[in-house]
Amino acid sequence: MVYINVAVCLSVLLLVIGLSVGLSVNTFRGRDALDSAPLIDGHNDLPYNLYGKLNNHLSDFNFESDLSNDSVWGKKACDSCFTDLPRLLKGKVGGQFWVAYVSCSSQYKDSLQLTMRQIDVIRRFIQKYPNNLQLVTEAGDIETTWRSGKIASMIGVEGGHSLDSSLAVLRLYYDLGVRYVTLTHTCNTPWADASTVDDGYVYNLTEFGQAMVYEMNRIGMLVDLSHVSHNVMREVLAITKAPVIFSHSSAFSVCNHYRNVPDDVLHLVKKNNGVVMVNFYSEFVNCNASRNATMEDVIKHINHIRRLIGPDHIGIGGDYDGVSSMPVGLEDVSKYPDLFDRLYESREGEPRWTKEDLEKLAGRNLIRVFQATEAVGTKL
Ligand SMILES: [Zn+2]
Repeated sequence: MVYINVAVCLSVLLLVIGLSVGLSVNTFRGRDALDSAPLIDGHNDLPYNLYGKLNNHLSDFNFESDLSNDSVWGKKACDSCFTDLPRLLKGKVGGQFWVAYVSCSSQYKDSLQLTMRQIDVIRRFIQKYPNNLQLVTEAGDIETTWRSGKIASMIGVEGGHSLDSSLAVLRLYYDLGVRYVTLTHTCNTPWADASTVDDGYVYNLTEFGQAMVYEMNRIGMLVDLSHVSHNVMREVLAITKAPVIFSHSSAFSVCNHYRNVPDDVLHLVKKNNGVVMVNFYSEFVNCNASRNATMEDVIKHINHIRRLIGPDHIGIGGDYDGVSSMPVGLEDVSKYPDLFDRLYESREGEPRWTKEDLEKLAGRNLIRVFQATEAVGTKL
């Protein structure tokens, strides 16, 4: 009788172990990769909304509430508002580059002062929510910050016009915590050519532009090539000593928009060991004006880049709060997990995404590029 009882107990135990092993294999979903690696988004323009709506008076911003239906920040009131703390948490965001952006109309005028205001509001914003946000300025701190339950909050400056053609300003931005600078926004700077400007002159990257890139390499500032002209992408990739990022850009051959990255440049990014963080903006991911953009369009961009240059050079740069229309299925910052679930499905004809690949896409690729950039800075 004792033997039978032991045998029954053992069988039940084995069954339970077998079931739980089976279950843990079968129930993996793409979103689970966001529990083992931080999701780092390359570009969020919430600070520009804080400027535009509140003149940077943070006390009037209810970051800790779900603002989906707010009379100022809700989707009915604001077509470029997608961000608040509850939705960031639901979206499993582990790291975020908050963007200090000022309009190109301030170039040659007060772009420097306005950028300082934006860096200031980002720093105050991070300080105001110490339980949920933490300023991160080193690649090695991203994961530890995220593991402590906070969103690793980093600062990017979008547009070389914010530098006022000054290496000193670049260095001081770094001291204030800025870790990437996008070389242009929608205007040419005196030293680098933007993607939208076609006035008959091709400035490319001038000799001073090369010095700017070299100084960024030397101090360990990430070089961001979103927004620059396709030719400047090539010229920077030919001279940079560190890997580059595209903080929010998609694939040109999937949607022929000047803001997207052409295939020959994608190959150069692979050689450079950089990362293209895919933009979700409806107009960049879907070139067919007769229908709305959906998450499937974003999937196509991600899979195209992966097919061309592999899973080591793709990231996520949603562009939330910087644009006025997001694809169906990616309506706000709470939706990233759905994207990862969908990628993991790997439908017919699509590349097969493993858990490890999804972790790279989520944030490990960006961390690798950030670390390599720091190492180049140290060496130089
Ligand atoms: Zn942008």
